[in-house]
Amino acid sequence: MDSVENESTTGPLICSAKGCRTAAVWVLAWNNPKLHTPERRKTWLACEEHREYLSRFLGMRGFLKDVVELDVWRSASDR
Ligand SMILES: [Zn+2]
Repeated sequence: MDSVENESTTGPLICSAKGCRTAAVWVLAWNNPKLHTPERRKTWLACEEHREYLSRFLGMRGFLKDVVELDVWRSASDR
């Protein structure tokens, strides 16, 4: 997992791709079955440009569970 920075929980929502400072518009929900319980969801944020790259990165490892627009993700998790 050396291609992304650690996710931050404060401040503006910025793309998780390393070196990218673009505002995120997508949420990639993923789970590593070796580290996480099945219902656990880690999230990466992605700008339009990096959505495909980060999706592929997680998808290749079988970790990717969902790709959701940030607005949708926020309203869905606002429970
Ligand atoms: Zn980006």
